[in-house]
Amino acid sequence: MGKNFPVSGCYVCGNRILNKDGSVIAFNYVRNLEELKEDYVNGKLDEKNERFVDSLIFQCYSQFPEFSFNRNLRTGDEIGLEILDNILEYDFGKSRNLEKLENILKNPVKEKFLFLLSHKVCVPEGFGLYWIDLKRIDSAERALEWTFHLSEKNWFNYKGWIKILESLFGRKGVS
Ligand SMILES: [Zn+2]
Repeated sequence: MGKNFPVSGCYVCGNRILNKDGSVIAFNYVRNLEELKEDYVNGKLDEKNERFVDSLIFQCYSQFPEFSFNRNLRTGDEIGLEILDNILEYDFGKSRNLEKLENILKNPVKEKFLFLLSHKVCVPEGFGLYWIDLKRIDSAERALEWTFHLSEKNWFNYKGWIKILESLFGRKGVS
């Protein structure tokens, strides 16, 4: 295990994660977003839950291509520009996120779970989640075994999982 594990920070708060404080979690985000939507729209969520919803929205766009671009776009360049727009828009704040939330809930990907890398405390209690403590996936060998295991689940979201692996171990490219 490298000295920088995991390579990336928490998907929810952005801060560095210590091995013992973090988890990879997978869950059906649709129910969570539906539950929190009204309070989110009305500005009634506390800071922690609001940050959680913002990160779910961002991760949905990142892990499920069906939300990220207009399917009528033909060229790779056009799709790339639209994905870039989506990433830039995220920084402009909640008015944009409300639109995105509506879009996600209109055509939810109900059969696939979303993956998060986060501090355990950054995820609100009471969600029915599939948790992997970081110490159970802190080497490339363990991650490979988890990949075999998870890929057999019918809810497996390979794009999200690849993102998790990159966040855990980084990426050096093939040679
Ligand atoms: Zn966090």
